[in-house]
Amino acid sequence: MHKYVYLFTEGNANMRELLGGKGANLSEMTNIGMPVPQGFTITTEACTQYYEDGRTINDEIMGQIMEYVEKMEQINGKKFGDLTNPLLVSVRSGARASMPGMMDTILNLGLNDDVVAAMIKANPDPKFERFVYDSYRRFIQMFSDVVMEVGKKYFEQLIDKMKERKGVVYDVDLTAADLKELAEQFKAEYKNQIGSDFPSDPKVQLYEAIRAVFRSWDNPRANVYRRDNDIPYSWGTAVNVMPMVFGNLNDNSGTGVAFTRDPGTGEKKLMGEFLTNAQGEDVVAGVRTPMPIDQMAEKFPEAYKQFLDVCDKLETHYRDMQDMEFTVENGKLYMLQCRNGKRTAQAALKIACDLVDEGMRTEQEAVAMIEPRNLDTLLHPQFDAAALKAATPIGKGLGASPGAACGKAVFSAEDAESWKARGEKVILVRLETSPEDITGMKAAQGVLTVRGGMTSHAAVVARGMGICCVSGCGEIVMDEENKKFTLGGKEFREGDFISLDGSTGNIYDGVIPTVDATIAGEFGRIMAWADKYRVLKVRTNADTPRDAQRARELGAEGIGLCRTEHMFFEADRIAAFREMICSDTVEEREAALNKILPYQQDDFEKLFDAMGKYPVTIRFLDPPLHEFVPTEEKDIEALAATQGKSVERVKAIIESLKEFNPMMGHRGCRLVVTYPEIAKMQTTAVIRAAINVQKRHPAWQLVPEIMIPLVGDTKELKYVKDTVVATADAEIAKAGVDLHYEVGTMIEIPRAALTADDIAKEAEFFCFGTNDLTQMTYGFSRDDAGKFLEAYYKAKIFENDPFARIDQDGVGRLMKMACELGRSVRPDMHIGICGEHGGDPTSVEFCHKLGLTYVSCSPFRVPIARLAAAQAAIKDGK
Ligand code: ADP
Ligand code: MG
Ligand code: MG
Repeated sequence: MHKYVYLFTEGNANMRELLGGKGANLSEMTNIGMPVPQGFTITTEACTQYYEDGRTINDEIMGQIMEYVEKMEQINGKKFGDLTNPLLVSVRSGARASMPGMMDTILNLGLNDDVVAAMIKANPDPKFERFVYDSYRRFIQMFSDVVMEVGKKYFEQLIDKMKERKGVVYDVDLTAADLKELAEQFKAEYKNQIGSDFPSDPKVQLYEAIRAVFRSWDNPRANVYRRDNDIPYSWGTAVNVMPMVFGNLNDNSGTGVAFTRDPGTGEKKLMGEFLTNAQGEDVVAGVRTPMPIDQMAEKFPEAYKQFLDVCDKLETHYRDMQDMEFTVENGKLYMLQCRNGKRTAQAALKIACDLVDEGMRTEQEAVAMIEPRNLDTLLHPQFDAAALKAATPIGKGLGASPGAACGKAVFSAEDAESWKARGEKVILVRLETSPEDITGMKAAQGVLTVRGGMTSHAAVVARGMGICCVSGCGEIVMDEENKKFTLGGKEFREGDFISLDGSTGNIYDGVIPTVDATIAGEFGRIMAWADKYRVLKVRTNADTPRDAQRARELGAEGIGLCRTEHMFFEADRIAAFREMICSDTVEEREAALNKILPYQQDDFEKLFDAMGKYPVTIRFLDPPLHEFVPTEEKDIEALAATQGKSVERVKAIIESLKEFNPMMGHRGCRLVVTYPEIAKMQTTAVIRAAINVQKRHPAWQLVPEIMIPLVGDTKELKYVKDTVVATADAEIAKAGVDLHYEVGTMIEIPRAALTADDIAKEAEFFCFGTNDLTQMTYGFSRDDAGKFLEAYYKAKIFENDPFARIDQDGVGRLMKMACELGRSVRPDMHIGICGEHGGDPTSVEFCHKLGLTYVSCSPFRVPIARLAAAQAAIKDGK
């Protein structure tokens, strides 16, 4: 027979997969002699089985549960549903990874009218009577809410009405009679909503409660939390059933929560709150203002002393900051939960360093303790915490690029630039952004869009620039033309202040002050340790010297992706580039490209300068040409005039560039196959720049890496490479210098991965463009997938966004194949990744396992990738 239930005395901390975090730790606390009410844990496997059995608890599992109820009764000397000595229990969820507040708990289970009457009869103290009814009304409310999903608010309304009628503010001031009446009202409300009587049989109550906890694993909040925190759906939750201890028994009782160190700052100092005559969530729910934990010393000196001792023991035992829940019943302490406490990034760094200094943790363990995703919050300007707390959001979009931004609303890229030029701080508000908006985005503090998901243009570009972005706020009623929008019932015009929180997606009316992100001392220490243990190199995606500089400061070891097209959008070159596009002959095209050449060379020189001795990969022009052509009539006229063409002719050319599937269209290396002169110009710029910088810095050993995008066939690559090599070699010969350069390719089309051995004959390096590779492997557009992915999450087809986290089974398999095939031909080739995935911790771990040389990500994600790479290596035992 399979064992689905464990007494707390049968488990331990290492069994969290089976018992969940809460259950494993209740066992562990029991083992090390802490005062824990003795109950049992129903395993996560029982939860999985419940779903397999079509959301029912099968007889075998139910049989084991009832057997353990009896054991629990014996251990505690009380009986479930008994009228002389009743046992009341709590039924609590507890998954493998802690998911605070996501799932449900029911307290005081086992009460019914008969048990209540018997308890009161056995103890005539009026205070006791009050306690019994207080417990009863709490139970009815929790059971109705959690098990039957009646909705808390109905019960809260009834409590409020009662308090109003009795002229009291706090629920502790309600009398036994009031609470008794409330319990009656609650039962009536239950019947009214559900249509049947409140279940009085404790065994039925227990069965229903356990089922409800299993079911809560699949509630929408839990699903979203799991997606955000990378917790697989398949894990399931355990259920803990344990005897109640009563913090609401009298004034000599209470309940509290505490952290062994400050979860906000990491300071080594007990932090917590305590409430007398209270139960369960009262402390956190704010029904009354709790007292700071140190005041417990006066109120319950014995229990407090014991609690301090418990804190010490737990920290030493777990070697980490503990978050604890406890209750005092009649002056006696009971421990109800402990876990490694959640903490801010700041606190995480300090605690990890302190634990190393205290001799409790090794450097590797300290590195492994930090949640890479959390570092994000340290790398962007942040709102002043107090001001943020006091503010109410007027709307919410997707937190697409973290950070805090505050400025005056503007509605076009040009306005953003001109307002910035006169010293204003602006927020760019757009229906959606396009490549033309880049300079405007750069000028803005933050970007707000009505449309677009987490991988929309605005989101990707903003993350790349490290500016705050809230995307896809569909509640906004936009009027771009008249430079205004409505949100939260208010009209905002150009120049009105708004504030954005790029982490939560919240939008605020007016000014919320921001403070600059600081990189504290501990941050540097942890990063230095990370660098010591990681194997993967970390590069950055950067197109400008400023980004490159910033990335260097954040620890980047080179540029893995410089997108040259961004350089063409600058005002001083877009005109020449448009002339190139609208040229009819090679000569015209070359003339236009020659105008751009010096700019492009200058860009590369600055980039090489910023990166010093580190490698720089330059990707040649990638997007389809129609993204660059003018849309405004006056721009079209100007273009026609420069080229001596009619407006109609220019319009016809622009029209001819339209494609049904532009992302699969005339772009990437295909552009060079038709217009080799583009590659000639770009190669000339790269090589000339490298020669100049090398001359200025003889020690640097520059090896520029030229990367050809969108290759699917080795012949395609060879064709383009021939042009590149001929041009480069001619430039080098002309300069009479010795310069080594490499020509490699993106692997972003499935066919390239499948034929990577052929491609490696030409390509000196590979770099996975996982955005396109994901798009083409799944065959869905990354710009549109957001619209239906939500349905995929709901249907459990996807657990997360494949554009944010590598799909290891499909896309990952192609990557693995490409690595193996490529290195079979060219064993020492360097292979990297430069998609958005390069900064996602889970994907970084995958890249480590594949044996990639480097990951490349946006500058602000560099520290995250460094840490994730170190964690992967440490986990791997290297
Ligand atoms: P969460 O995981 O959301 O914190 P818990 O299962 O920890 O939910 O329950 C919430 C609170 O209920 C606990 O902090 C504790 O105060 C109270 N509680 C749970 N079980 C018991 C019990 N057996 N006796 C007294 N209080 C309990
Ligand atoms: Mg808890
Ligand atoms: Mg691509």
